[in-house]
Amino acid sequence: MTKFEALGLQKSLLDAVADLGFETPSEVQEKAIPILLEGETDLVALAQTGTGKTAAFGFPLIQKIDGNSRTTQGLILSPTRELCLQITKEMQAYAKYERNINVVAIYGGASITDQARQIKRGAQIIVATPGRMKDMISRRLVDISKIDYCILDEADEMLNMGFMEDIKDILSNTPNEKSTWLFSATMPKEVSVIAKKFMHSPQEITVGAKNSGASTVQHEYYVVGGRDRYPALKRLADTNPDIFSVIFCRTKRDTQKVAENLIEDGYNAGALHGDLSQNQRDLVMNSFRKRQIQMLVATDVAARGIDVDDITHVINYQLPDEIETYTHRSGRTGRAGKTGISMVLITRSEQRKIKAIENKINQKFELKKVPSGSEICGIQLHHLANKIKDTETNSNIDSYLPAINDILEGIDREELIKKLISAEFTRFSTYYNKSKDLNSSDSGRDRGERSERSDGRRGGETPTSGSVRYFINIGEKDGYDWMSLKDFLRDTAGLGQDDVFKVDVKESFSFFNTDTEVTEKILGTFTEFKVDGRFVNVEVSKSPGGGGGGKRRSGGSSFGGSGGFKGKRSGGSRRDDDRGASKGRSRERSKSESPNSGKRRSQKRKGDFF
Ligand code: ADP
Ligand code: MG
Repeated sequence: MTKFEALGLQKSLLDAVADLGFETPSEVQEKAIPILLEGETDLVALAQTGTGKTAAFGFPLIQKIDGNSRTTQGLILSPTRELCLQITKEMQAYAKYERNINVVAIYGGASITDQARQIKRGAQIIVATPGRMKDMISRRLVDISKIDYCILDEADEMLNMGFMEDIKDILSNTPNEKSTWLFSATMPKEVSVIAKKFMHSPQEITVGAKNSGASTVQHEYYVVGGRDRYPALKRLADTNPDIFSVIFCRTKRDTQKVAENLIEDGYNAGALHGDLSQNQRDLVMNSFRKRQIQMLVATDVAARGIDVDDITHVINYQLPDEIETYTHRSGRTGRAGKTGISMVLITRSEQRKIKAIENKINQKFELKKVPSGSEICGIQLHHLANKIKDTETNSNIDSYLPAINDILEGIDREELIKKLISAEFTRFSTYYNKSKDLNSSDSGRDRGERSERSDGRRGGETPTSGSVRYFINIGEKDGYDWMSLKDFLRDTAGLGQDDVFKVDVKESFSFFNTDTEVTEKILGTFTEFKVDGRFVNVEVSKSPGGGGGGKRRSGGSSFGGSGGFKGKRSGGSRRDDDRGASKGRSRERSKSESPNSGKRRSQKRKGDFF
């Protein structure tokens, strides 16, 4: 008898278990399934994220449902659309050998009529998000007045998200004599309130310590200057070439900005936050699941309940306000028996927050150093050599080999290896060459900022960018400001809305940027080009700081960087300025840049404390 058989599951479910490849029940499954199968009872089950709670309630629920009746008998409430779909899929997999059991998902952002139609065909089990459920109840599109089982999944997250009232409302439409099963990772006050109010002497099971982070997660923190968060983030990513991570920011704006910057710097990144449409969020989640996105930058709300296994790192770009939220974040890694690392970037003034979290989760943090440029180069070289070693040779190149051999003839093996590695690596090592120490030390408050100012650029963190900076011999005295010059350039060269950026108008001349791809178009347009009988001359700006703009842009450069080996941008682009502004930002930037912009940005925001 397998361990799953011993729990009392019927044959059809055991077959599904086998298909899923589950060999032994997890602790919460081992404890919950027999209790739920045995009789009718309310249950509170506390277990960390990733411990298999879905199956703990899913299997017993399916076994207890009557497939011969089309009445809705079970309702599962879950906090997010993503989770709702995930649970539905799992439940359908569990029920694959059952006859006539339909599991239907109800969630916002999709057609309510379609969902109502599916319900009408008969749904013994409904998996729903609270908002849409409430909506459908009030429109009488569902009937939950006869349910026998109500499951509150990820109850702490639902309440965190402010669904208390919706849940009360929904529960008031269910019969009194049903069983309620509450599953949660943590037991904050609000969850006990729900348990007290809506449950009848529930049995309780707890797996692991209450409110503690999963012990499969290692916690680390890095102390950096407030403005060094982004370069530090990149170094953490570059130190872990196979990273598969969720990066948490506090606001939608930061989330979007960090994701944009990463993408621009050549990383496989994506943003997930509430300002995106449902469709965009689905696309991002799908790419993440398929590993096309290695770094998912997300807000806490949007990332709630994401169940993607094998996440190697959770990075707290900023700490959350609540310790409870930190637990949720770090619980995204170290799932299903795997280990994971939760990293926190903090400034020195925030250091005491680490203590507070340690006390709460009952685990120690390790203080780590942001790796130096040369350490990263070492790691990347190693990675590259291994990658070459593991690369399967491609037979399509066979016919070209004689010609290639001709070219490479006379180069010995050692030299060839050096060249091969250099071809990939030089771009990377240039980026980290002379890069500064990003670690904030007690003695050197703001030292990083000073050293960055001293050379007008940001040490080695000067990015590779796919944009070109130009000089043009017209300026304010010709009646242009940055907006009108931009329009003039765009119209004259036939470029798109956002193709010209970082326009910097001086008295008698100006600078501007375009993407590398349109350089020819720009230079071609302004050859022998006259306005009012005067030659308008455009040339690529040679000066390193962007031609007179070098010093003043120190503030903006903090988001620069190269994408290491992952870089999609060609290494051949000119890099005469500190970065290519991402398109959407260019207007705002050009306008707001002033000699003080660096200072303004460096002002510390008042910290939020626990
Ligand atoms: P939780 O709801 O506790 O966060 P899930 O139910 O989402 O966890 O399960 C996490 C992962 O573990 C899922 O991928 C699930 O398929 C897998 N899993 C669940 N139970 C088992 C088991 N007994 N053996 C192996 N994998 C399991
Ligand atoms: Mg779950």
